[in-house]
Amino acid sequence: MDGTRIKAVNNKGRNFTKNSLAKFIKGVDERLDEYLKRLDEDDATESGTGGSRTKNLADKIEALRAKRDGYNAMLNDLERRGEDQISLTDPDSRAMATHTKVGVGYNIQVAVDAKNKMIVEQAVSNQVVDMGLLTQTAQAAREILEVEKIDVVADKGYFKIEDIEACEKAGMTPYVPQPQRGPAVAKGLFRKDEFNYDAARDVYICPAGQTLSCNHESTLCELKRFHYTNPEACKACLLRTRCTTSSHRQVTRLENEAVLDSLAARLKARPGILNTRREIVEHPFGTIKQWMNQGAFLTHGLEKVRAEFSLAALVYNLRRALNILGTVALVRAVRA
Ligand code: SF4
Repeated sequence: MDGTRIKAVNNKGRNFTKNSLAKFIKGVDERLDEYLKRLDEDDATESGTGGSRTKNLADKIEALRAKRDGYNAMLNDLERRGEDQISLTDPDSRAMATHTKVGVGYNIQVAVDAKNKMIVEQAVSNQVVDMGLLTQTAQAAREILEVEKIDVVADKGYFKIEDIEACEKAGMTPYVPQPQRGPAVAKGLFRKDEFNYDAARDVYICPAGQTLSCNHESTLCELKRFHYTNPEACKACLLRTRCTTSSHRQVTRLENEAVLDSLAARLKARPGILNTRREIVEHPFGTIKQWMNQGAFLTHGLEKVRAEFSLAALVYNLRRALNILGTVALVRAVRA
C-alpha cells in the first residue's frame, strides 16, 4: 500500500486554514491601526493637498475592512462547520502536508499486487495524512482479490496501533514499521525499541541488562498504560546519561502492545519486505504521474476527482496487462 498527493484545481493562495486566517486578520488590523493613525495626522496637515491624500487613505482603509470582513466570515464558517481549512476554487480539496510539495490537493491511496504491479484497490480522499487508512484499503483489496490471507505492507506513515490491531482482527497480516517518536528520541537517548520486553516475566530488560518492573498504571484515551522502572539500578548505572535526564528511566507499555511485539517480530523475520514494497508501489505512481501526465487533477470536487483517478488507474492496469500478456492474449482473455 502507498499514498501520494495529487494537486487539485485550487491555487495555494485560495486555501485558508484557521491559523492562516487568524494571521491575516492580525496583519490587516495592524495595517488598519497604522492607516488610521496616518489619517489623524493628515487631517491636521491636509489643508495644502485639497484632501486627496486623506481620500486615498480612506479608500485603503475601506478596502482593508472589507478584506477583514471576508477573513472573519471564512473563520466563522470554519468554526460553524468544525473544520480546519477552506478551499475557495475546489471546496473539497485540502492543503496537504508541506513535505509533499503538492500545496492543495487530494490524498490518493493504492493497494498494488506484488506479483504483477497492478492496482487492486484505489481510493481518493481529502484526508491530509495516511494514518488511519490502512485497514479500509487493505480490506477492499482482499475482497477484490477474493483471498482469505493477505500480507499488508505499508510505510511508517500508516502506523497506528488501533489500525494494526483492526487489520489483524480482520484476518490480514500487517507489516508496518513503527516510527520512533517521543521525548527520549528527541533528546537522543536510548529508544524504547532498545528495551526488550520479556512477556513471560512481564518485565523490560534495559540496555544495561537491568530488569524494569511494572510499578504503576494509568489511563490515556481509555487505553490502559503500564509503567516499568528500576530506580535503584538507574541510580548506579554508568549508562544513565545516555538513557534519561531524570533520576531513573521509565518505559511505558500500552495494554494492547502485544500486537506491536508480533508486528516487530514479523518485520524482523522479513527484513527486505519494506524495500520490496517501495519498488512495487513506486511503479504505478511513477507511471501515472510521469508517463500518463497526471500531475494534477482536471476536475473539481471529490466525486469527480474520484472518477478521474479511477479512470487513470484503469488505464494504468490496461497498460500493465498489455505489457504482461501482450495484445493477442489480452483480447482473447477479454473475449473468453
Ligand atoms: S539508566 Fe536505568 S534503565 Fe537506563 S540503562 Fe541504566 S539501569 Fe537501564
